[in-house]
Amino acid sequence: MADRLNLLWLQSGGCGGFTPSLLGAESPDLLTTLESAGIDLLWHPTLSEASCSEVPRLLQQILDDQISLDILCLEGAVVQGPNGSGAFHQLAGTGQSMMAWIERLAAKARHVVAVGSCAAYGGITAGGCNPSEACGLQYAGVEAGGLLGDGFVAKAGMPVINVAGCPIHPNWLTETLVEMAWGDMTTASLDDFGRPRGYADHLVHHGCPRNEYYEFKASAGLPSQQGCLMEHLGCQGTQAHGDCNTRLWNGEGSCLRGGYACISCTAPGFEEPGHGFTETPKIAGIPVGLPTDMPKAWFVALASLSKAATPIRLKQNAVADHIVVPPINRTKDKP
Ligand code: SF4
Ligand code: SF4
Repeated sequence: MADRLNLLWLQSGGCGGFTPSLLGAESPDLLTTLESAGIDLLWHPTLSEASCSEVPRLLQQILDDQISLDILCLEGAVVQGPNGSGAFHQLAGTGQSMMAWIERLAAKARHVVAVGSCAAYGGITAGGCNPSEACGLQYAGVEAGGLLGDGFVAKAGMPVINVAGCPIHPNWLTETLVEMAWGDMTTASLDDFGRPRGYADHLVHHGCPRNEYYEFKASAGLPSQQGCLMEHLGCQGTQAHGDCNTRLWNGEGSCLRGGYACISCTAPGFEEPGHGFTETPKIAGIPVGLPTDMPKAWFVALASLSKAATPIRLKQNAVADHIVVPPINRTKDKP
């Protein structure tokens, strides 16, 4: 193991939901992960005791190269308003915008990590008319740039690492931190939108308990029903990058298991789908958002074949909130 690493956590324009999500990390928990990876927490606004007057001193010591900064994590979008001044969010006790602190600290960090879709791409904070002029660290929606600019690389030679999600699964971050600590994090570890491939190379559709309904296009009409949520309720799981159904939340949950359609919260621009989150936009009755990698003609052909062959069991269970038709027990009638 190399020398211990220093981690600084800042918060800006967001709901702060990543911290409670992170505290839900299990096997191991957050503090055990940090300790075993050799990472020291310099400061975190929720977890640390340092007061409002002590923190600016710490940050200044980093800027003055008296304390090394290995990992800078930002939770929440960068607030640039009004008029690019950043004055909507000032770091308490400093009279300076958080935007300015982030920019200067990022220049000192070996790695810069955007925790969540707001810090990565702007996210919900940048939705609508974006009154706070929110953006991500290195993206504004799908456009590269953001606060630090397209060409930014941290001292270790990598762009911003976008642990995107709203909120993130805690292990998406703890694994990323461990990879950094072990020196295994390289640009090849990231996908086209800077997301760690450990979770972003998967689709939410993988492992969804509604897969059998999807195969036969047996669709739910209400979130409480058991069928696939793609046809009527806006599920984007066949296109969304994430391992949410194979790496369960709190050991047992996922959006789909809770009856919520996947809204692809790991993607830049997810906050503005152009329609209601639980609506499926269609043209001539065919969902516009087809599964990743599947040509439209194939999907249409397969869907109509599947619908024609849907077993009664799936047809009825799809629109019920519990099993109304159990599977046939084939062994019972065997000689
Ligand atoms: S509900 Fe969504 S993730 Fe689940 S099977 Fe249907 S399309 Fe896939
Ligand atoms: S299932 Fe979809 S909306 Fe839910 S956390 Fe995963 S990517 Fe986000």
